[in-house]
Amino acid sequence: MTAEDPRRLLRSLPKVDDLLKREDVTSALVALPRGLVVDSLRQAISERRERVLAGDVAPFTEDDIASEALAIAQRRNARSLRRVVNATGIVVHTNLGRSILAPAAIDAVAEVAGSYSTLEYDVPSGERGSRHVHVESLICELTGAEAAMAVNNNASAVLMALAALAQGREVIVSRGQLVEIGGSFRIPDIMAASGATMVEVGTTNKTHLRDYEQAVTERTALLLKVHSSNYRMVGFTQEVPLEDLVALGAERGIPVYEDQGSGVLVDLAALGLPYEPTMSEAIKAGADLVSGSGDKLLGGPQAGILAGKAEIIERLKTHPLARVVRLDKMTLAALEVTLALYRDPEKVFEQVPTLRMLTMTKEEVGRRAEGLAAAISERCPGSFRVEVVPETSRAGGGALPMADIPTCVVALTPVEGSVVELEQRLRMGSPPVVGRIKDDRLLLDPRTLTVEDEQVVVEALAALVSA
Ligand SMILES: *Cc1c(COP(=O)(O)O)cnc(C)c1O
Repeated sequence: MTAEDPRRLLRSLPKVDDLLKREDVTSALVALPRGLVVDSLRQAISERRERVLAGDVAPFTEDDIASEALAIAQRRNARSLRRVVNATGIVVHTNLGRSILAPAAIDAVAEVAGSYSTLEYDVPSGERGSRHVHVESLICELTGAEAAMAVNNNASAVLMALAALAQGREVIVSRGQLVEIGGSFRIPDIMAASGATMVEVGTTNKTHLRDYEQAVTERTALLLKVHSSNYRMVGFTQEVPLEDLVALGAERGIPVYEDQGSGVLVDLAALGLPYEPTMSEAIKAGADLVSGSGDKLLGGPQAGILAGKAEIIERLKTHPLARVVRLDKMTLAALEVTLALYRDPEKVFEQVPTLRMLTMTKEEVGRRAEGLAAAISERCPGSFRVEVVPETSRAGGGALPMADIPTCVVALTPVEGSVVELEQRLRMGSPPVVGRIKDDRLLLDPRTLTVEDEQVVVEALAALVSA
């Protein structure tokens, strides 16, 4: 095709009003808001004008502009926060929303979202109630603590605890525990934001009880222990056990707070995962306060769980920040139901998806992988080399960093085109399917796929192949 005269091209740009009379545009108005469509028509016309002015003199038609505009409108109208199929095998995948909820928790969220609720209403008296009651006694029951509360996330739990218990005073913490958790949670920064002064003791690899003892002054408000979460030190290392900190705290009259990070309520080692301290162990050891996340290994909604001595929890509940970091009713509903599932420590591994996924055996995942591979081969004959290979899954969420969880994945090699392109096209689908590339193959780990997700993956691949 010969190059066109730019001035003639600019003159031939359609008008918004003319585009609005087109059949394809009017029928799009059934599903798309008019203002959005008009905006997108303007945008498509102006983008084309810019291209011509920048020297792109390829010919175009009104049809081209209209379909560009409708594509823009569709993109802008698509929901931003939406479902993704997680085929990465990373169970607590922070970027993909960490934990998915148990069905009973989802039902409870829907119920309180669509109805008025007992959020702050005491039914027997007909009077104002407290939003703390919905989870407090459950947390106490599951941890053995005297009192408890739940807040927006564990980061806010740490911030509020430091502010309420140590503002303007000193908090002693081991240098080996000054961790950074994904995103922007860093112990020294949270400490500064809380108004407490951090007193670092020990060295990176070794901290002794005497380091804490020597740092205690009349300004000391708290002894803090922080879970190293996303890293492990090996070799010549030493940490002070919680019991020893508790003994020191009791002797000097200083409360002890353990930030456990993950919020573990059951013995994970019993199902073959690495040992993780539980909240009830911290309470039993005598900690005045312990906190953990709701959506890491606990497998519930985003939340921060605080359990401890009644007097300490009372100070937290009455601190101004408690109102700032309080939970909304949907989260409270999900948290209450998730916690209640922990009353049966055996069934909980079946019912809470995060625990279920983490404890699926390699053989069980292998059977799922074989089924998925067979379905892909059947729906997309000749399009991929389909293999089932051993791999490792990860806990994610900054938890269990040393746990290589043996798994089986489906490994796809496209017969035509590149694996990079395959990964991208699956990711750009609806819903996006997120896998990972290794050794020029696309790996799909059934550990993090629901049965319904597997269907979605097969259909997405079939659609790609037929396109
Ligand atoms: C993850 C983590 C936090 C932050 O918890 P969120 O629930 O993500 O806010 C705080 N402390 C430790 C030790 C953690 O592992």
